[in-house]
Amino acid sequence: MANEPTHVVQSTEIATACVCPFLFKLSYPFGVVGGERDYLIANTVHDIMSLATPTTILDNWQYGVKDFEAIAGSIIKDSANIIEKCVANAIDVAKRDGRDSSILDTFENEVQDRFHGLLIGLAKRVMKKHPQPVRAVTEITITNIRNVQEGRIDAILEYDNDCYGIIDWKSNEVNSVVTGGRKDAWQIIANMFLANYRYTGDEDNWSKCCFGAVVYNDGAYMPRLPISERIINKVKIDRNFAHQVLCGGTPYAEKPVVCPVCDRDGESASDCRFYREDTRSANLGVFPENYDKIRKLLIKRRYLVLKERGETHRHKFVLHTATENLGEEAGLEELERAGVIHTGYKAKSIDDRSVTLSRENIRTFLEPRKVIRIIGNEHKNHVNDIPILACISEKGMVKQVNGKEVTIDLPTTIAVERARLHLLDLPLTIVPDEINLTRRVLEPMHRFHRLAADLILHDENNSEFIGHE
Ligand code: SF4
Repeated sequence: MANEPTHVVQSTEIATACVCPFLFKLSYPFGVVGGERDYLIANTVHDIMSLATPTTILDNWQYGVKDFEAIAGSIIKDSANIIEKCVANAIDVAKRDGRDSSILDTFENEVQDRFHGLLIGLAKRVMKKHPQPVRAVTEITITNIRNVQEGRIDAILEYDNDCYGIIDWKSNEVNSVVTGGRKDAWQIIANMFLANYRYTGDEDNWSKCCFGAVVYNDGAYMPRLPISERIINKVKIDRNFAHQVLCGGTPYAEKPVVCPVCDRDGESASDCRFYREDTRSANLGVFPENYDKIRKLLIKRRYLVLKERGETHRHKFVLHTATENLGEEAGLEELERAGVIHTGYKAKSIDDRSVTLSRENIRTFLEPRKVIRIIGNEHKNHVNDIPILACISEKGMVKQVNGKEVTIDLPTTIAVERARLHLLDLPLTIVPDEINLTRRVLEPMHRFHRLAADLILHDENNSEFIGHE
Protein backbone atom coordinates (compact mmCIF):
# COMPACT_ATOMS: atom_id res chain seq x y z
CA MET A 1 0.00 0.00 0.00
CA ALA A 2 3.07 2.26 0.18
CA ASN A 3 2.12 4.22 -2.95
CA GLU A 4 -1.62 4.35 -2.38
CA PRO A 5 -3.07 7.80 -1.58
CA THR A 6 -4.61 7.49 1.87
CA HIS A 7 -6.78 10.57 2.18
CA VAL A 8 -10.23 10.67 3.70
CA VAL A 9 -12.51 13.71 3.56
CA GLN A 10 -14.25 14.85 6.74
CA SER A 11 -18.03 15.42 6.58
CA THR A 12 -17.57 19.06 7.59
CA GLU A 13 -15.12 19.53 4.71
CA ILE A 14 -17.60 17.99 2.28
CA ALA A 15 -20.20 20.45 3.58
CA THR A 16 -17.78 23.33 3.00
CA ALA A 17 -17.10 22.15 -0.57
CA CYS A 18 -20.86 21.87 -1.16
CA VAL A 19 -21.38 25.51 -0.15
CA CYS A 20 -18.52 26.65 -2.40
CA PRO A 21 -15.60 24.60 -3.73
CA PHE A 22 -13.37 27.70 -3.35
CA LEU A 23 -14.18 27.71 0.35
CA PHE A 24 -12.72 24.19 0.59
CA LYS A 25 -9.62 25.24 -1.38
CA LEU A 26 -9.09 28.14 1.00
CA SER A 27 -8.62 25.61 3.82
CA TYR A 28 -6.71 23.10 1.66
CA PRO A 29 -4.21 23.79 0.30
CA PHE A 30 -4.09 27.48 1.26
CA GLY A 31 -4.55 27.21 5.01
CA VAL A 32 -7.09 29.96 5.70
CA VAL A 33 -8.69 29.31 9.08
CA GLY A 34 -12.22 30.53 9.84
CA GLY A 35 -12.66 32.10 13.26
CA GLU A 36 -14.72 30.38 15.91
CA ARG A 37 -15.32 32.96 18.54
CA ASP A 38 -16.99 31.21 21.42
CA TYR A 39 -15.96 27.61 21.03
CA LEU A 40 -15.41 27.14 24.78
CA ILE A 41 -19.14 27.52 25.48
CA ALA A 42 -20.08 25.51 22.37
CA ASN A 43 -17.71 22.66 23.30
CA THR A 44 -19.03 22.54 26.84
CA VAL A 45 -22.61 22.27 25.59
CA HIS A 46 -21.50 19.51 23.21
CA ASP A 47 -19.93 17.67 26.15
CA ILE A 48 -23.17 17.98 28.13
CA MET A 49 -25.22 16.67 25.20
CA SER A 50 -22.82 13.75 24.76
CA LEU A 51 -23.39 12.58 28.35
CA ALA A 52 -27.06 13.57 28.67
CA THR A 53 -28.32 12.00 25.41
CA PRO A 54 -27.83 8.35 26.41
CA THR A 55 -28.96 8.99 29.99
CA THR A 56 -31.20 11.86 31.10
CA ILE A 57 -32.55 12.69 27.64
CA LEU A 58 -33.40 9.08 26.85
CA ASP A 59 -35.04 8.64 30.30
CA ASN A 60 -37.18 11.76 29.85
CA TRP A 61 -38.08 11.19 26.18
CA GLN A 62 -41.76 12.06 25.62
CA TYR A 63 -43.15 11.13 22.24
CA GLY A 64 -45.77 13.47 20.78
CA VAL A 65 -46.07 15.65 23.90
CA LYS A 66 -46.43 19.39 23.30
CA ASP A 67 -45.30 20.78 26.65
CA PHE A 68 -41.72 21.30 25.50
CA GLU A 69 -40.79 23.50 28.48
CA ALA A 70 -41.81 20.76 30.93
CA ILE A 71 -39.73 18.14 29.06
CA ALA A 72 -36.70 20.45 28.93
CA GLY A 73 -37.20 21.29 32.63
CA SER A 74 -37.12 17.64 33.73
CA ILE A 75 -34.02 16.90 31.63
CA ILE A 76 -32.19 19.93 33.03
CA LYS A 77 -33.14 18.93 36.59
CA ASP A 78 -31.86 15.38 36.10
CA SER A 79 -28.70 16.62 34.35
CA ALA A 80 -27.41 18.80 37.20
CA ASN A 81 -24.43 16.50 37.84
CA ILE A 82 -23.54 16.31 34.16
CA ILE A 83 -23.66 20.10 33.79
CA GLU A 84 -21.50 20.58 36.86
CA LYS A 85 -18.93 18.05 35.62
CA CYS A 86 -18.74 19.52 32.11
CA VAL A 87 -18.45 23.13 33.33
CA ALA A 88 -15.69 22.13 35.77
CA ASN A 89 -13.87 20.25 32.99
CA ALA A 90 -14.08 23.28 30.63
CA ILE A 91 -12.68 25.61 33.30
CA ASP A 92 -9.93 23.12 34.10
CA VAL A 93 -8.94 22.68 30.42
CA ALA A 94 -8.97 26.47 29.83
CA LYS A 95 -6.72 26.99 32.87
CA ARG A 96 -4.34 24.25 31.75
CA ASP A 97 -4.05 25.91 28.32
CA GLY A 98 -3.56 29.36 29.88
CA ARG A 99 -6.89 30.61 28.50
CA ASP A 100 -8.68 31.24 31.79
CA SER A 101 -9.18 34.89 30.82
CA SER A 102 -11.57 33.66 28.10
CA ILE A 103 -13.97 32.35 30.76
CA LEU A 104 -16.54 35.06 31.34
CA ASP A 105 -18.54 35.47 34.55
CA THR A 106 -21.61 34.56 32.54
CA PHE A 107 -20.02 31.31 31.28
CA GLU A 108 -22.18 28.91 33.26
CA ASN A 109 -25.39 30.84 32.50
CA GLU A 110 -24.58 30.88 28.78
CA VAL A 111 -23.98 27.14 28.86
CA GLN A 112 -27.31 26.58 30.65
CA ASP A 113 -29.16 28.81 28.16
CA ARG A 114 -27.81 27.00 25.15
CA PHE A 115 -28.46 23.58 26.68
CA HIS A 116 -32.05 24.66 27.36
CA GLY A 117 -32.40 26.00 23.76
CA LEU A 118 -31.19 22.72 22.25
CA LEU A 119 -33.56 20.69 24.45
CA ILE A 120 -36.51 22.78 23.28
CA GLY A 121 -35.42 22.24 19.66
CA LEU A 122 -35.11 18.50 20.31
CA ALA A 123 -38.50 18.19 22.03
CA LYS A 124 -40.31 20.35 19.46
CA ARG A 125 -39.05 18.63 16.34
CA VAL A 126 -37.51 15.24 17.11
CA MET A 127 -39.36 13.94 20.21
CA LYS A 128 -42.68 15.15 18.86
CA LYS A 129 -42.33 13.01 15.72
CA HIS A 130 -40.25 10.04 16.84
CA PRO A 131 -40.79 7.57 19.70
CA GLN A 132 -38.27 6.88 22.45
CA PRO A 133 -35.14 5.17 21.10
CA VAL A 134 -33.78 2.08 22.85
CA ARG A 135 -30.17 3.23 22.83
CA ALA A 136 -28.12 6.32 22.06
CA VAL A 137 -24.42 6.58 21.26
CA THR A 138 -22.65 9.91 21.10
CA GLU A 139 -19.54 11.54 19.61
CA ILE A 140 -18.91 8.57 17.39
CA THR A 141 -16.21 8.68 14.73
CA ILE A 142 -17.06 6.68 11.61
CA THR A 143 -14.50 6.06 8.87
CA ASN A 144 -15.70 4.68 5.55
CA ILE A 145 -12.51 3.95 3.64
CA ARG A 146 -14.38 2.54 0.63
CA ASN A 147 -15.93 5.96 0.01
CA VAL A 148 -12.99 7.94 1.47
CA GLN A 149 -15.07 9.71 4.10
CA GLU A 150 -14.84 10.23 7.84
CA GLY A 151 -16.98 12.13 10.30
CA ARG A 152 -17.84 12.49 13.95
CA ILE A 153 -21.57 12.21 14.54
CA ASP A 154 -22.83 13.98 17.65
CA ALA A 155 -25.56 11.43 18.46
CA ILE A 156 -27.06 8.32 16.92
CA LEU A 157 -30.40 7.09 18.26
CA GLU A 158 -31.20 3.41 17.75
CA TYR A 159 -34.68 1.81 17.64
CA ASP A 160 -35.64 -1.78 18.35
CA ASN A 161 -36.65 -2.36 14.71
CA ASP A 162 -32.98 -1.78 13.74
CA CYS A 163 -33.70 1.73 12.48
CA TYR A 164 -31.70 4.79 13.46
CA GLY A 165 -31.76 8.56 13.46
CA ILE A 166 -28.79 10.92 13.71
CA ILE A 167 -28.42 14.33 15.32
CA ASP A 168 -25.93 17.19 14.94
CA TRP A 169 -26.11 19.72 17.78
CA LYS A 170 -25.50 23.32 16.76
CA SER A 171 -24.53 24.98 19.98
CA ASN A 172 -22.13 27.61 18.65
CA GLU A 173 -24.59 30.41 17.91
CA VAL A 174 -28.10 31.04 19.09
CA ASN A 175 -29.25 31.54 15.47
CA SER A 176 -26.83 29.05 13.97
CA VAL A 177 -29.25 27.63 11.45
CA VAL A 178 -29.76 31.06 9.96
CA THR A 179 -26.06 31.85 9.55
CA GLY A 180 -24.52 28.44 8.93
CA GLY A 181 -27.72 26.86 7.61
CA ARG A 182 -26.61 25.64 4.20
CA LYS A 183 -23.38 24.17 5.47
CA ASP A 184 -25.18 22.43 8.35
CA ALA A 185 -27.70 20.97 5.90
CA TRP A 186 -24.95 19.49 3.70
CA GLN A 187 -23.12 18.19 6.73
CA ILE A 188 -26.09 16.24 8.08
CA ILE A 189 -26.58 14.55 4.69
CA ALA A 190 -22.88 13.64 4.51
CA ASN A 191 -23.15 12.22 8.05
CA MET A 192 -26.25 10.22 7.07
CA PHE A 193 -24.07 8.46 4.45
CA LEU A 194 -21.78 7.42 7.31
CA ALA A 195 -24.66 6.19 9.48
CA ASN A 196 -25.96 4.11 6.54
CA TYR A 197 -22.49 2.61 6.25
CA ARG A 198 -22.36 1.84 9.99
CA TYR A 199 -25.65 -0.07 10.02
CA THR A 200 -25.80 -1.64 6.56
CA GLY A 201 -22.22 -1.59 5.26
CA ASP A 202 -23.38 0.55 2.32
CA GLU A 203 -23.71 4.34 2.29
CA ASP A 204 -26.45 4.10 -0.37
CA ASN A 205 -28.69 1.80 1.64
CA TRP A 206 -31.29 4.10 3.24
CA SER A 207 -33.68 1.33 4.30
CA LYS A 208 -33.01 1.73 8.05
CA CYS A 209 -32.54 5.48 8.25
CA CYS A 210 -35.53 7.18 9.91
CA PHE A 211 -34.25 10.72 10.25
CA GLY A 212 -31.37 13.16 10.35
CA ALA A 213 -31.68 16.35 12.38
CA VAL A 214 -29.62 19.49 12.87
CA VAL A 215 -30.86 20.65 16.27
CA TYR A 216 -30.32 24.28 17.16
CA ASN A 217 -31.74 26.76 19.63
CA ASP A 218 -35.51 26.32 19.73
CA GLY A 219 -35.85 24.30 16.50
CA ALA A 220 -34.32 21.81 14.10
CA TYR A 221 -33.68 21.26 10.43
CA MET A 222 -34.68 17.77 9.26
CA PRO A 223 -34.18 16.97 5.59
CA ARG A 224 -37.20 15.32 4.00
CA LEU A 225 -36.73 11.61 3.32
CA PRO A 226 -36.06 10.12 0.86
CA ILE A 227 -33.27 12.53 -0.03
CA SER A 228 -33.45 13.26 -3.77
CA GLU A 229 -30.91 11.72 -6.17
CA ARG A 230 -29.87 15.23 -7.22
CA ILE A 231 -28.85 16.17 -3.66
CA ILE A 232 -27.11 12.83 -3.03
CA ASN A 233 -25.14 13.25 -6.24
CA LYS A 234 -24.16 16.80 -5.39
CA VAL A 235 -22.71 15.71 -2.05
CA LYS A 236 -20.80 12.88 -3.73
CA ILE A 237 -19.46 15.16 -6.48
CA ASP A 238 -18.26 17.67 -3.89
CA ARG A 239 -16.72 14.88 -1.79
CA ASN A 240 -14.86 13.76 -4.88
CA PHE A 241 -13.73 17.34 -5.53
CA ALA A 242 -12.35 17.60 -1.98
CA HIS A 243 -10.65 14.22 -2.26
CA GLN A 244 -8.96 15.17 -5.52
CA VAL A 245 -7.66 18.42 -4.00
CA LEU A 246 -6.28 16.54 -0.97
CA CYS A 247 -4.56 14.06 -3.28
CA GLY A 248 -2.71 16.93 -4.98
CA GLY A 249 -5.02 17.38 -7.97
CA THR A 250 -6.36 20.71 -9.22
CA PRO A 251 -10.00 20.10 -10.15
CA TYR A 252 -11.90 23.07 -11.52
CA ALA A 253 -13.63 25.08 -8.77
CA GLU A 254 -16.64 27.12 -9.75
CA LYS A 255 -17.69 30.15 -7.73
CA PRO A 256 -21.39 29.74 -6.83
CA VAL A 257 -23.94 32.00 -8.53
CA VAL A 258 -24.79 33.50 -5.17
CA CYS A 259 -21.75 33.43 -2.96
CA PRO A 260 -22.89 33.45 0.69
CA VAL A 261 -19.57 34.84 1.85
CA CYS A 262 -18.12 37.20 -0.71
CA ASP A 263 -21.48 38.65 -1.78
CA ARG A 264 -21.98 39.68 1.82
CA ASP A 265 -18.32 40.51 2.27
CA GLY A 266 -17.99 37.81 4.93
CA GLU A 267 -15.03 36.66 6.93
CA SER A 268 -12.98 34.82 4.29
CA ALA A 269 -13.94 37.06 1.34
CA SER A 270 -10.68 39.03 1.22
CA ASP A 271 -8.60 35.82 1.38
CA CYS A 272 -10.67 34.33 -1.41
CA ARG A 273 -10.20 37.37 -3.65
CA PHE A 274 -6.50 37.37 -2.83
CA TYR A 275 -5.91 33.72 -3.85
CA ARG A 276 -8.09 33.92 -6.95
CA GLU A 277 -6.17 37.01 -8.12
CA ASP A 278 -2.84 35.47 -7.05
CA THR A 279 -3.45 32.36 -9.18
CA ARG A 280 -4.65 34.42 -12.16
CA SER A 281 -1.59 36.72 -12.07
CA ALA A 282 0.75 33.73 -11.65
CA ASN A 283 -0.78 32.09 -14.74
CA LEU A 284 -0.24 35.32 -16.68
CA GLY A 285 3.39 35.30 -15.53
CA VAL A 286 3.33 38.93 -14.37
CA PHE A 287 4.83 38.57 -10.88
CA PRO A 288 8.29 39.91 -10.01
CA GLU A 289 10.86 37.13 -9.74
CA ASN A 290 11.40 37.35 -5.95
CA TYR A 291 7.69 37.07 -5.16
CA ASP A 292 7.15 34.33 -7.72
CA LYS A 293 9.90 32.27 -6.10
CA ILE A 294 8.43 32.61 -2.60
CA ARG A 295 4.97 31.84 -3.90
CA LYS A 296 6.05 28.67 -5.70
CA LEU A 297 7.98 27.49 -2.66
CA LEU A 298 4.96 27.99 -0.40
CA ILE A 299 2.61 26.16 -2.77
CA LYS A 300 5.04 23.24 -3.03
CA ARG A 301 5.37 23.07 0.78
CA ARG A 302 1.60 23.07 1.16
CA TYR A 303 1.20 20.04 -1.08
CA LEU A 304 3.90 18.24 0.91
CA VAL A 305 1.93 18.99 4.09
CA LEU A 306 -1.18 17.56 2.46
CA LYS A 307 0.74 14.41 1.62
CA GLU A 308 1.62 14.12 5.31
CA ARG A 309 -2.05 14.53 6.16
CA GLY A 310 -2.80 11.43 4.07
CA GLU A 311 -0.24 9.49 6.09
CA THR A 312 -2.20 10.10 9.30
CA HIS A 313 -4.95 7.84 7.88
CA ARG A 314 -2.73 5.04 6.55
CA HIS A 315 -3.42 2.72 9.52
CA LYS A 316 -7.13 2.88 8.76
CA PHE A 317 -6.55 1.92 5.14
CA VAL A 318 -4.48 -1.08 6.30
CA LEU A 319 -7.22 -2.14 8.72
CA HIS A 320 -9.91 -1.75 6.09
CA THR A 321 -7.97 -3.61 3.38
CA ALA A 322 -7.17 -6.56 5.68
CA THR A 323 -10.74 -6.92 6.97
CA GLU A 324 -12.34 -6.46 3.52
CA ASN A 325 -10.06 -8.97 1.82
CA LEU A 326 -9.80 -11.65 4.50
CA GLY A 327 -13.07 -11.16 6.38
CA GLU A 328 -13.15 -9.35 9.72
CA GLU A 329 -12.04 -12.15 12.03
CA ALA A 330 -9.19 -13.44 9.86
CA GLY A 331 -8.13 -9.89 8.94
CA LEU A 332 -7.87 -8.84 12.59
CA GLU A 333 -5.96 -12.02 13.48
CA GLU A 334 -3.49 -11.34 10.68
CA LEU A 335 -2.95 -7.76 11.84
CA GLU A 336 -2.53 -8.92 15.45
CA ARG A 337 0.13 -11.39 14.31
CA ALA A 338 1.93 -8.58 12.46
CA GLY A 339 1.84 -6.43 15.62
CA VAL A 340 -0.25 -3.70 13.95
CA ILE A 341 -3.27 -3.98 16.25
CA HIS A 342 -3.86 -5.44 19.72
CA THR A 343 -7.09 -7.33 20.31
CA GLY A 344 -8.84 -9.03 23.22
CA TYR A 345 -8.67 -6.28 25.84
CA LYS A 346 -11.14 -5.69 28.65
CA ALA A 347 -11.44 -2.65 30.90
CA LYS A 348 -9.80 -3.21 34.28
CA SER A 349 -10.02 0.14 36.03
CA ILE A 350 -10.85 3.79 35.35
CA ASP A 351 -9.76 7.00 37.00
CA ASP A 352 -10.35 10.69 36.21
CA ARG A 353 -8.15 10.90 33.13
CA SER A 354 -7.19 7.37 32.14
CA VAL A 355 -8.38 3.82 31.64
CA THR A 356 -6.44 0.64 32.32
CA LEU A 357 -7.06 -2.30 30.00
CA SER A 358 -5.82 -5.85 30.33
CA ARG A 359 -5.85 -9.08 28.39
CA GLU A 360 -5.09 -12.70 29.15
CA ASN A 361 -2.06 -14.66 28.05
CA ILE A 362 -0.51 -12.16 25.67
CA ARG A 363 1.93 -9.48 26.77
CA THR A 364 1.46 -5.96 25.45
CA PHE A 365 4.06 -4.51 23.14
CA LEU A 366 2.69 -1.00 22.96
CA GLU A 367 5.04 1.85 23.82
CA PRO A 368 4.31 4.83 26.07
CA ARG A 369 3.38 8.07 24.26
CA LYS A 370 1.93 6.24 21.24
CA VAL A 371 -1.31 7.76 19.98
CA ILE A 372 -3.91 5.03 19.68
CA ARG A 373 -7.64 4.48 19.26
CA ILE A 374 -9.59 2.12 21.53
CA ILE A 375 -12.34 0.48 19.48
CA GLY A 376 -15.28 -1.34 21.10
CA ASN A 377 -16.23 -4.40 19.04
CA GLU A 378 -19.93 -3.57 19.07
CA HIS A 379 -21.06 -6.14 16.55
CA LYS A 380 -20.49 -8.93 19.05
CA ASN A 381 -23.24 -7.46 21.23
CA HIS A 382 -25.48 -6.12 18.57
CA VAL A 383 -27.83 -7.44 15.90
CA ASN A 384 -26.13 -5.51 13.13
CA ASP A 385 -22.71 -6.38 11.86
CA ILE A 386 -20.99 -3.03 12.29
CA PRO A 387 -17.69 -2.55 10.37
CA ILE A 388 -14.77 -2.15 12.77
CA LEU A 389 -14.02 1.45 11.72
CA ALA A 390 -17.64 2.40 12.36
CA CYS A 391 -17.76 1.03 15.92
CA ILE A 392 -17.64 3.21 19.04
CA SER A 393 -14.12 4.41 19.81
CA GLU A 394 -12.08 6.94 21.76
CA LYS A 395 -8.68 8.36 20.94
CA GLY A 396 -5.96 8.38 23.59
CA MET A 397 -2.25 8.17 24.36
CA VAL A 398 -0.46 5.21 25.95
CA LYS A 399 0.71 6.24 29.41
CA GLN A 400 2.14 3.07 30.84
CA VAL A 401 2.59 -0.58 29.85
CA ASN A 402 2.94 -3.29 32.43
CA GLY A 403 2.97 -6.90 31.21
CA LYS A 404 -0.53 -7.69 30.03
CA GLU A 405 -1.90 -4.30 31.13
CA VAL A 406 -1.89 -0.95 29.41
CA THR A 407 -2.94 2.42 30.86
CA ILE A 408 -4.24 4.96 28.37
CA ASP A 409 -4.75 8.69 28.92
CA LEU A 410 -7.90 10.11 27.35
CA PRO A 411 -8.00 13.82 26.41
CA THR A 412 -10.53 14.95 29.04
CA THR A 413 -12.52 13.70 32.01
CA ILE A 414 -15.61 13.91 29.77
CA ALA A 415 -14.02 11.50 27.27
CA VAL A 416 -13.45 9.12 30.21
CA GLU A 417 -17.12 9.48 31.21
CA ARG A 418 -18.20 8.74 27.64
CA ALA A 419 -15.92 5.70 27.52
CA ARG A 420 -17.50 4.48 30.76
CA LEU A 421 -20.99 4.88 29.26
CA HIS A 422 -20.46 3.32 25.83
CA LEU A 423 -17.17 1.64 25.40
CA LEU A 424 -15.73 -0.15 28.35
CA ASP A 425 -18.26 -2.99 28.55
CA LEU A 426 -17.32 -4.13 25.06
CA PRO A 427 -14.43 -6.35 23.92
CA LEU A 428 -11.72 -3.84 23.00
CA THR A 429 -9.17 -3.55 20.22
CA ILE A 430 -6.32 -1.06 20.24
CA VAL A 431 -5.29 0.31 16.84
CA PRO A 432 -2.60 2.88 16.03
CA ASP A 433 -3.73 6.46 15.32
CA GLU A 434 -2.11 9.83 14.62
CA ILE A 435 -2.69 13.46 15.49
CA ASN A 436 -3.55 15.49 12.43
CA LEU A 437 -1.73 18.85 12.55
CA THR A 438 -2.35 19.89 8.94
CA ARG A 439 -4.34 23.02 9.70
CA ARG A 440 -1.87 24.20 12.29
CA VAL A 441 0.99 23.82 9.81
CA LEU A 442 -0.84 25.37 6.85
CA GLU A 443 -2.05 28.48 8.67
CA PRO A 444 1.38 30.12 9.13
CA MET A 445 2.08 29.50 5.42
CA HIS A 446 -1.09 31.40 4.55
CA ARG A 447 -0.02 34.30 6.78
CA PHE A 448 3.46 34.31 5.28
CA HIS A 449 2.06 34.22 1.72
CA ARG A 450 -0.10 37.27 2.40
CA LEU A 451 2.74 39.07 4.15
CA ALA A 452 5.07 38.43 1.20
CA ALA A 453 2.43 39.83 -1.17
CA ASP A 454 1.94 42.88 1.07
CA LEU A 455 5.65 43.60 1.34
CA ILE A 456 6.75 42.85 -2.20
CA LEU A 457 3.75 43.55 -4.41
CA HIS A 458 2.56 46.65 -2.58
CA ASP A 459 5.97 48.19 -2.80
CA GLU A 460 5.83 51.41 -4.78
CA ASN A 461 8.20 49.93 -7.39
CA ASN A 462 5.51 47.38 -8.12
CA SER A 463 2.62 49.80 -8.07
CA GLU A 464 0.68 47.87 -10.75
CA PHE A 465 -0.01 45.21 -8.08
CA ILE A 466 -1.61 47.61 -5.61
CA GLY A 467 -5.02 46.10 -6.51
CA HIS A 468 -3.72 42.71 -5.45
CA GLU A 469 -4.77 43.35 -1.81
S1 SF4 B 1 -15.73 34.30 -0.83
FE1 SF4 B 1 -17.39 33.37 -2.06
S2 SF4 B 1 -16.38 32.47 -3.85
FE2 SF4 B 1 -14.84 32.85 -2.28
S3 SF4 B 1 -14.69 30.99 -1.13
FE3 SF4 B 1 -16.11 32.26 -0.06
S4 SF4 B 1 -18.06 31.63 -0.85
FE4 SF4 B 1 -16.59 30.89 -2.29
